[in-house]
Amino acid sequence: MSAVLINGVAAARQLHDELCSAVETLVERGATPGLAVVLVGDDPASSVYVRNKVRRSVEAGLRSFHHELPASTSESDLLALIKRLNAAEDVDGILVQLPLPPHIDAQKVTAAIDPAKDVDGFHPINVGNLSLGAPALVACTPLGCMLLIKGVRKDLAGLSAVVVGRSNIVGKPLAQLLLRENCTVTIAHSRTKDLPLVCCGADILVAAAGRAGFIRGDWIKPGAIVIDVGINRIERDGKQQLVGDVDFEGARSVAGALTPVPGGVGPMTIACLLRNTIEAACRRRGISSPLANAAD
Ligand code: NAD
Repeated sequence: MSAVLINGVAAARQLHDELCSAVETLVERGATPGLAVVLVGDDPASSVYVRNKVRRSVEAGLRSFHHELPASTSESDLLALIKRLNAAEDVDGILVQLPLPPHIDAQKVTAAIDPAKDVDGFHPINVGNLSLGAPALVACTPLGCMLLIKGVRKDLAGLSAVVVGRSNIVGKPLAQLLLRENCTVTIAHSRTKDLPLVCCGADILVAAAGRAGFIRGDWIKPGAIVIDVGINRIERDGKQQLVGDVDFEGARSVAGALTPVPGGVGPMTIACLLRNTIEAACRRRGISSPLANAAD
């Protein structure tokens, strides 16, 4: 068997097109969604992420507010900016790029964002609502993974899903989303015993551990949907390369469907950020969402 490759670039482009028409509809109604992106410091990877988020939001027709603050910014100055953004009428979504410099408490900053504008889905209220099955803004990478999985198979009820990784931003929210789809969910982590055996039972296997190529083909159930969230920079044949957590060649001959790295989950993350911003704008302004499956 050779796995169907799940094309995250194409899926993100299609979602982006849908978002552009949704924004057009909202602009006509005089409700242009606005996204504020806050970057503290000059971490090169964070700067690239922020630049891409701003560029994509402008392309989609959103109003973009970009705040770049020096690494020396105090926690209280950052909290004061968030307070202003919470109160700003034309800001529907607020994203503070992580990681923050060590003198700033990221949890305190996340909790200071108005949950209705928390388009990263990291606020405790959104995390709690997700676990209650109540409407919530959901973290972007897990949301992107779910859209890719549902693109392969609509009805996931009764399937066994294994999520490798229990971070607050990927593993745990994704496990909640899979549970909401009536999967039987296992979360595996660095202390899990006999991980190959756990993975072998998965109809849906999500790898989000940040360990290059460590999920091997012989850990995968034939025909499984395999979602590789990992982004690892390695050196191979003297060249820098991006690889996932799954041994791609090994998995390809066993899985039913598989995301590549790059070109799988990654492109969906920014598209889901814009989707969350549109959802947040509609909810805040009390207007119906022009997006299909608005409650996802
Ligand atoms: P994290 O470091 O916060 O969490 C890693 C998790 O993996 C932990 O829960 C840990 O218990 C588990 N783990 C580590 N080693 C393990 C092992 N040997 N066996 C089983 N479990 C193990 O990482 P994160 O922020 O959740 O990110 C995970 C990966 O996903 C990283 O490679 C990251 O770069 C990538 N990522 C990609 C996107 C995207 O847009 N595609 C977004 C976020 C994160």
